[in-house]
Amino acid sequence: MSFATLGLIEPLQRVLAELEHHTPTPIQRQAIPAVLAGRDLIAAAQTGSGKTASFALPLLQKLNAGTPASANRVRALVLTPTRELAQQVADNLRTYGRHLSLRILVAYGGTSLNPQMMALRRGADILVATPGRLLDLYGKNAFRFHELQMLVLDEADRMLDMGFSRELQEILALLPRQRQTLLFSATFSDAIRELAAGLLYKPQQVDASPRNTTVGTVKQWLITVDKQRKLELFCYLLRKRHWPQVLVFAKTRKRVDELVTSLKYQNIGTDAIHGDITQAGRLAALRRFQAGTVRVLVATDVAARGLDISALPLVVNLDLPVDAEGYVHRVGRTARAGAAGEAISLVCADEAVQLNAIETLIGKLLQRREIQGFEPKHAVPITGPNKRPPSLKAMRNAGNKTGVKKKRVRAPKGAPASKKKPGGKKPGPRGPLGQTLGQKQWIPKRHTVEPTG
Ligand code: AMP
Repeated sequence: MSFATLGLIEPLQRVLAELEHHTPTPIQRQAIPAVLAGRDLIAAAQTGSGKTASFALPLLQKLNAGTPASANRVRALVLTPTRELAQQVADNLRTYGRHLSLRILVAYGGTSLNPQMMALRRGADILVATPGRLLDLYGKNAFRFHELQMLVLDEADRMLDMGFSRELQEILALLPRQRQTLLFSATFSDAIRELAAGLLYKPQQVDASPRNTTVGTVKQWLITVDKQRKLELFCYLLRKRHWPQVLVFAKTRKRVDELVTSLKYQNIGTDAIHGDITQAGRLAALRRFQAGTVRVLVATDVAARGLDISALPLVVNLDLPVDAEGYVHRVGRTARAGAAGEAISLVCADEAVQLNAIETLIGKLLQRREIQGFEPKHAVPITGPNKRPPSLKAMRNAGNKTGVKKKRVRAPKGAPASKKKPGGKKPGPRGPLGQTLGQKQWIPKRHTVEPTG
């Protein structure tokens, strides 16, 4: 199937040919005709599935067919959770629309308000914005929604996760009822379904990817390691496996800084993206990474959304994200639009609860490995889809294990018999899944590998 069969106009087909996008992805095949036909849409779309083009192309085509925006008016609004994603969506819209003459503006916080207000004076065919900045601009009368025809909520689940629910409701109350609405979300919680129910009119449902699963082409596995050896292990793997480029996710800004300092000390080109870095600094870091001048980009979850780095082969989770959905988004940074990719998580005993939640969400066990010389002293408790999360007590038990399977030692002949109580065995302590610990301790299956190049 080609883009021509989806009913796209020639200037859009031309740009797709220039970008060497020859075949529509599954979400594009389903969403483009539906949007062109004027339907509301609810799409379960993962990052890397080609979802941006799936709304950008029909949006551009529909707006191109109408009259340009008047002063201080916006014809289509795209809301995104993060600044990075707003910038990226605007860049994509400008690229796809480069043979059309539509006015595309972007507005997000962390940059000065005035230039955005000035730009909006001439109106916008498409405004891409984060919720907070949009309301600031609206409050200053920078624009009005009278001509609004289309609304896109991109990564709606993330918007709710980031606490934009109130802002979202405020914005929705300002919009004309007569409009076309498209809602994209990587994961579907009850809150998203509730939002969709009040927002969409007889929507076409597009489920291009199975619910809450990570991109199928990503090879995902984990390495169990003690917490205090994670940085050392990462540097070892980077060197030993000759990773050309890697995006690393860490839990906190402090962790990002620790890794960056350690890598820079080893003369490895490294950049960071986190909340303490200015917007301009974050975009510059992203551009350097995209241009390949930097080998390692270390980010907190702030950057997990909105990074579009073509053909990124590898994502490493230095720490697991706090919420399981975050894992899906992080992993979605690799294997974009069908390319192969790999996601490796370094997991310590403390992270069993998060790991359990992730494996339950994605519906499969991540294969565990150990790296020679980095075997954990504190074993990671057993986890997996639909398993009860390990209790703190169980984690403490597992944390005390040496990771070496203890042999059952038979008492020598003639030794005094152990004092057994009548009535059989006394149950020993229990592991995270209720397995008996103690003499015959449960130890997770070990799989030690020596990294290859
Ligand atoms: P996203 O829209 O975030 O899912 O990103 C998808 C990535 O795949 C972007 O880098 C797009 O440029 C690229 N892409 C989108 N559609 C196609 C297509 N039909 N063929 C090849 N690459 C595509």
